[in-house]
Amino acid sequence: MSDSGSNAFPSSAKVVVIGAGIVGNCLVGHLSRLGWTDMVQIDKGPLPNPGGSTGHASNFIFPTDHNKEMAFLTIDSQNQYIDAGLNNTCGGIEVAREPQRLEEFKRRMTSAKAWGIEASLVTPAEIKEMVPFINEDILLGGYYTPSVSVVDSLATGTKMREEAMANGVLHVFANTEVLDVETEDVPGGKRVTAVVTDKGRIEAEYVVVACGVWSPRIAAMAGANIPLTPAVHQMADVGPIDILQESNKELAYPIIRDMDTFCYERQSSGSMEVGSYAHRPILMRADDIPSNAESALTPTELPLTYDDFDPQMEQAIDLMEMLGDAEIRYAINGLLSLTPDANPVLGETPRCATCGARLPCGSRKAPASRSSSPSG
Ligand SMILES: Cc1cc2nc3c(=O)[nH]c(=O)nc-3n(C[C@H](O)[C@H](O)[C@H](O)COP(=O)(O)OP(=O)(O)OC[C@H]3O[C@@H](n4cnc5c(N)ncnc54)[C@H](O)[C@@H]3O)c2cc1C
Repeated sequence: MSDSGSNAFPSSAKVVVIGAGIVGNCLVGHLSRLGWTDMVQIDKGPLPNPGGSTGHASNFIFPTDHNKEMAFLTIDSQNQYIDAGLNNTCGGIEVAREPQRLEEFKRRMTSAKAWGIEASLVTPAEIKEMVPFINEDILLGGYYTPSVSVVDSLATGTKMREEAMANGVLHVFANTEVLDVETEDVPGGKRVTAVVTDKGRIEAEYVVVACGVWSPRIAAMAGANIPLTPAVHQMADVGPIDILQESNKELAYPIIRDMDTFCYERQSSGSMEVGSYAHRPILMRADDIPSNAESALTPTELPLTYDDFDPQMEQAIDLMEMLGDAEIRYAINGLLSLTPDANPVLGETPRCATCGARLPCGSRKAPASRSSSPSG
């Protein structure tokens, strides 16, 4: 099925964007605003949720980062969600169980002040006032950011994509899989010439890989390397919980990040999403991710491995006893992208330091290539 409003599959385009997650969707929207035309966007899954990481993210944004560029990138992204009317501000508290973490919070205050982010250090009693169901006895303090929010990444992506379509500069093809990226030899290296899909071949001047966890697989089709690894991040939806249901809101309480156990608790209407980064590294190869047809849910929602999650669930229950009385209603080994330095992978395929040609070239084995990728 095409989302393009026209059944004709194009034989050429100036730009082909592969992927209709938050990255691909925002990219086509921004290129359209910058005056780009003749664009095609392709995704192998159905719209509006093609089955990538965007469809099941917890979708929260904490603005403070010690790294200035990342903090400003996050704030800019949040402002875009605000402009789209799809930002739900609920506040967030990062809590400390260990004295060293309290020290780190003081450092966070320094970064917040430097980058102009409103934040404050709060006592266990103040945390309890904001989150009445928390066990403040095991906490030493917290770092509170009122501007923390949850955003609607699927709706924002759809809005950006549809804006570009309405401007007449974008054709979108869902349920269309990219099978190959063709290149030609140019002096000293290679350049992209076409994208081959199961619906046909599109000649293109520019190709953007916005394929999240699949990006290394797509880049390899062009002989390039995108340095990211699909990794599991576990998340469970626990409910129903009376106090949350009674709030009658999607988000009545601040999001808690339990920094010493690497877990978070985020209200989702009548239940609580409990996410964990504490488990052993569970890594995958992009080639081994199941297809949409093979997946019980989507390709990036794999079955939860309970042995990995149970210890973190115990710690979550220590923090919020009510979690122990509720059911796990939905639970996944969710897939997201990990990069070597935990920063986004963004920009053009780099040039070879030896010959200046776009990589891969003949001078040496291709090192890291760059493409659009997530920041989550
Ligand atoms: C459980 C969980 C919770 C998370 N919570 C948060 C959070 O609270 N805050 C946050 O900022 N981030 C969060 N993230 C991370 C966030 O989900 C990702 O960073 C983000 O969604 C990545 O977007 P993307 O557009 O790069 O990739 P995706 O959304 O994965 O999009 C890539 C697209 O490429 C398409 N594609 C792949 N191969 C092909 C092909 N051959 N042909 C055509 N199309 C193809 C796929 O179908 C897919 O739609 C979370 C992740 C997980 C797993």
